[in-house]
Amino acid sequence: MGLPLIITFLGTGTSQGVPVPACDCEVCLSDDPRDNRTRSSIHVSTPESAWVIDTGPEFRLQCLRERIDRVDAVVYTHSHTDHIMGFDDLRPFCANGRAIPIYASPETMEDLKRVFSFAFSPLSIAPGYVHPDPRLIHGPFELGATRLTPLPLKHGRARVNGYLLESQGRKLAAYLSDCKEVPAAVIECIRGVEALIIDALRYTEHPTHLSVGEALEIAARVQPQATWFTHLCHQLGHASAEAKLPARTRIAYDGLKLVFQ
Ligand SMILES: [Zn+2]
Ligand SMILES: [Zn+2]
Ligand SMILES: [Zn+2]
Repeated sequence: MGLPLIITFLGTGTSQGVPVPACDCEVCLSDDPRDNRTRSSIHVSTPESAWVIDTGPEFRLQCLRERIDRVDAVVYTHSHTDHIMGFDDLRPFCANGRAIPIYASPETMEDLKRVFSFAFSPLSIAPGYVHPDPRLIHGPFELGATRLTPLPLKHGRARVNGYLLESQGRKLAAYLSDCKEVPAAVIECIRGVEALIIDALRYTEHPTHLSVGEALEIAARVQPQATWFTHLCHQLGHASAEAKLPARTRIAYDGLKLVFQ
């Protein structure tokens, strides 16, 4: 089992989202719905299990928009606000006091416990509240029949986990939402993946994110079957930016689904 595995892009925007309040640039004023980008995260569903990678500030709205009815676990990339601030909206997925497994690196878990101390405190286990079941990530782990391998990435001073999703011996997808550098060992691990989902913030260089040019260089080394850019800012209008990309390289958008049969 493990297939079909369906990835739904809940959000594909950078930390400020697109459009940016008070900005009157062409992309922020665009009426192409694909230029409306909430903060980046994905929902993954398989016959056995469903989970999200990150819970950004629009998590509740993303769940309503995509009619998400199942979240058995949460996997975090890192603790920047654009990736964690929807944590409290996990409440509907903790019905009847059910604990929800929360997978994170030790440093990300420490931040989650600090920011959401009210939820992690054993004193606050009550029906209706988020009831986290912390699971520290020290290596590959399984959700249903899918194997998740953490991919350590550099993102400015933050250390981030990307994730490789594998099922039935296939490297289905690598999710690298926030990074400035992708170590050679990670490239080796994900080489030939079916879908590379990668940070491509903007055209100009940035200290903590890959630019479009840098993301294309990584993709050339990974040799995926398809590349999808995510975590975009308002420099990239969907249609015009995608038209300039090489073959098999696309720009993700909120609501896009990738289906692995
Ligand atoms: Zn981010
Ligand atoms: Zn703008
Ligand atoms: Zn970040």
